[in-house]
Amino acid sequence: MQLMSPRPAKADSQPGCFPSSLRPMRILVTGGAGFLGSHLCDRLISDGHDVICLDNLFTGRKDNIVHLLSNPHFEFMRHDVVDPFKVEVDQIFNLACPASPPHYQYNPIKTTKTSVMGAINCLGLAKRVKARVFQASTSEVYGDPQEHPQSETYWGHVNPVGLRSCYDEGKRCAETLFFDYHRENRVDIRVARIFNTYGPRMLPNDGRVVSNFIVQALKGEDLTVYGDGMQTRSFCFVGDLIEAFCRFMKQTETVGPLNLGNPDEFTMLQLAELTVKLVGGKSKIVHKPLPSDDPKQRRPDISLARRTLKWKPAVALDEGLKRTIAYFRGRV
Ligand code: NAD
Ligand code: UDP
Repeated sequence: MQLMSPRPAKADSQPGCFPSSLRPMRILVTGGAGFLGSHLCDRLISDGHDVICLDNLFTGRKDNIVHLLSNPHFEFMRHDVVDPFKVEVDQIFNLACPASPPHYQYNPIKTTKTSVMGAINCLGLAKRVKARVFQASTSEVYGDPQEHPQSETYWGHVNPVGLRSCYDEGKRCAETLFFDYHRENRVDIRVARIFNTYGPRMLPNDGRVVSNFIVQALKGEDLTVYGDGMQTRSFCFVGDLIEAFCRFMKQTETVGPLNLGNPDEFTMLQLAELTVKLVGGKSKIVHKPLPSDDPKQRRPDISLARRTLKWKPAVALDEGLKRTIAYFRGRV
């Protein structure tokens, strides 16, 4: 992997021309060709930054970033975060990791390596180039939670040896590494615990519930509800989440961990019924076995994010579903 030369100062980035919050930066986004990563790249480019997108395209697609490839402020690097990389950057967003249960369970040992080695490589780089570094952690660190809603002070209820453990424990270990680099090496970290987020650019075969239900309803197939469908999740629209990422990265009041998500909570049966209503058609609901260790309830306490970021989600589930359905129409 090449070492990029330090960025020459731009005339328009001189003090006095730009408020510091608007100064263009060079920003690395790992996992930048994925669902969340590609929306983040779009946002950073439109804010005037230079973006390096590093991705091995395991669950990401060039299609998600094809509109950015000819932009001189955007660079794509096909690379695996498990292997070290060197770039001169001002900030790092570490999003590289499959997020859907079927995808992260496809090669569970690789999933743990991606979380742990990816974190070590991003933190080592951040330490060397003195970059602020963001970790995309997850509500899965709370496991099958016994505290509801989940606040950042809850330590979680995680099975260390189950099918979801490669993801949950990998992400927990990554958080540990972030906080140890922060304490030991003064690395400037931001750790976000992301709750279920959905929107355009999810893969049609992603396996997560929102895209599964929408694709099934659009094809006129039955919607597959796992178990009795009474388990709950709280769904955040992607645009709301990306706004929170940017605010979190900009502020200096907290390094996290910080819950980011939409606290409106739904059962999977409610989600299935709403999806059928919005898509139209005659799809029915069928029940399939519940995967092991499937959390029974999940809802973020976002008081800390509201206070420190002056942020709350703006897009309600029915509106976000309509926008996501519009994206999938014609693609399935
Ligand atoms: P995604 O699968 O669409 O994106 C992950 C990206 O990482 C893909 O582009 C993939 O190709 C890339 N990747 C995977 N392994 C890699 C490796 N070893 N080296 C380089 N690139 C690699 O998933 P997403 O929903 O966009 O999730 C992005 C991040 O946010 C993940 O870290 C995920 O754990 C976290 N997260 C997402 C959600 C959510 O609801 N979307 C919730 C909690 C946490
Ligand atoms: N789920 C479902 N049908 C599907 C896919 C998922 O009922 O086709 C359920 C799943 O069992 C879980 C919830 O929807 O209870 C959310 O699953 P997802 O994989 O989207 O995310 P996670 O379990 O990681 O929160």
